[in-house]
Amino acid sequence: MRFHLIARLSLSKSVDGDVISKEVENFNRYLDERSSDAKIDSWSIKENVLELSIVSGTKRRAHDILLNFRNVLSKNLGKSYRVGVRGIEVDLYEVRFSLDKKPLRDISIPFADLEIKGNNVRMILRETSEEFLRKNYVDRMIRLVKEKVENQYYEGKKEFWKLIWRSEEKEPVWNKDPTEEMIKRGWLVQGPTKGKWFYRPQLAAIIRAMEKIAIEEVLKPLGFQEVIESHIVPFEIWLKTGHLEGMPGEIYYVCEPRTRDIAEWERFIDLVKITREIPEDELRRNISLPKAGICYAQCPVIYWSLKGKTLADDSLPLLIFDRTAISGRYESGGRHGIERVDEFHRIEPVYIGKPEQLIELRDKLIERYKRVFNDILDLEWRMAWVTPWYLQQAGKVEVEEGYGEGVIGTIDFEAWLPYRGDRENSKWLEFQNLSILGDKYVKAFNIKAQKGELWSGCSGIGLERWVAVFLAQKGLDPENWPEGFRRYLNKLPEGIKTL
Ligand code: ATP
Ligand code: ZN
Ligand code: MG
Repeated sequence: MRFHLIARLSLSKSVDGDVISKEVENFNRYLDERSSDAKIDSWSIKENVLELSIVSGTKRRAHDILLNFRNVLSKNLGKSYRVGVRGIEVDLYEVRFSLDKKPLRDISIPFADLEIKGNNVRMILRETSEEFLRKNYVDRMIRLVKEKVENQYYEGKKEFWKLIWRSEEKEPVWNKDPTEEMIKRGWLVQGPTKGKWFYRPQLAAIIRAMEKIAIEEVLKPLGFQEVIESHIVPFEIWLKTGHLEGMPGEIYYVCEPRTRDIAEWERFIDLVKITREIPEDELRRNISLPKAGICYAQCPVIYWSLKGKTLADDSLPLLIFDRTAISGRYESGGRHGIERVDEFHRIEPVYIGKPEQLIELRDKLIERYKRVFNDILDLEWRMAWVTPWYLQQAGKVEVEEGYGEGVIGTIDFEAWLPYRGDRENSKWLEFQNLSILGDKYVKAFNIKAQKGELWSGCSGIGLERWVAVFLAQKGLDPENWPEGFRRYLNKLPEGIKTL
């Protein structure tokens, strides 16, 4: 990787070439002594304008050298000649680096033009203000170019998927879509906005029974403690977890009013009273740009709540769960039934501990989940090893040293939906997952152990999905439900009768 920068420093007075020559010589020697791979490779001075050409390798960036030299020069010229450095103009800043693979299509990034020949990239910065250089965006821009090229090879490829376990086959009691049947029976009503539902008493009781099973059969016996978190998540948290760049198109954004002052809202109120419509322009004037979104998954806020803390050794592994925050996701064209909705109810257990503790815990969780899906819900289901986007993105799919294959990553739990077709050829539904994420999130939030390494992980228990899978295989008639489930819900509530 090579950096080349041409810049002009304007001085408060003209300075003799010999003086500059000395300064450059000294500075280059100073760089050399620190075995830096950078130097000022040419310069010239015309009146009070000093033009510099700086080249560097990867140890220090050319712009960092420029700012460094400016400070040294300011100090020395100021002291000896009462000359100051007034401003910096960058005429050219280019970075050359090579890619592992040739791009398949043109790519572009903000703040720079890219010239790519084969595997070689020439990135010419368009934005070169001092502030921009000071913020060190250059490295992230290089990473972004590499990532975009990598992604071109990734697109269209199927997500990594490897079966690790499957239950025996179970004969379903029917092959209808439970959502449609429940709408017909009045258990379920389409919600007031896209992808939302109103669960009437029968279905509400089934969802609550699932919640109870997850808590009583899985979380409590393993010692998980309940927390209650906010379900409005500020962007700062998602900047740290990567959700903001990972799925900005799925977030439900939350705005605050610009003011609570009723006088500011007067025109809005008047317009509503007169027109009985939403005065959109007036509304826009009175709200601020969103700084937060509705919960996407519960774990980010849990990590945030522990940021900067050192966890007591004797409390590890820390086992907590939230079942209060409701998840919002803009699923758009993917919406279907109660299984892919824009608003769903999840329980999310989060575990933080030493690597060996989490590996042991994962086995215990799987054992408990198996009991639920085999003995209580009596499902036909399977587990598969998959690689979620946040690990793909980070390039962390490789096995973490020393822990063998299949430790860091995600297990998807999938079940057959008979209404989608036969078990071999139809797409099964992921109804929950379980991840061990290494130190990604504890690092992002600076959560530490008293000593040694700390890992974390989480499991997303989607209640709508548990219900969708159960009803798709077992039908709506409690008579046909397995004994284990009937211990939790034997009789459905009467519900709401309408004419
Ligand atoms: P999918 O691939 O089905 O979109 P996902 O990978 O986006 O799922 P995760 O982010 O891993 O899902 O969330 C974990 C769990 O949350 C899922 O296993 C599922 O139980 C639940 N879930 C996710 N999205 C939805 C949705 N739109 N409707 C209902 N439940 C959902
Ligand atoms: Zn999570
Ligand atoms: Mg999804």
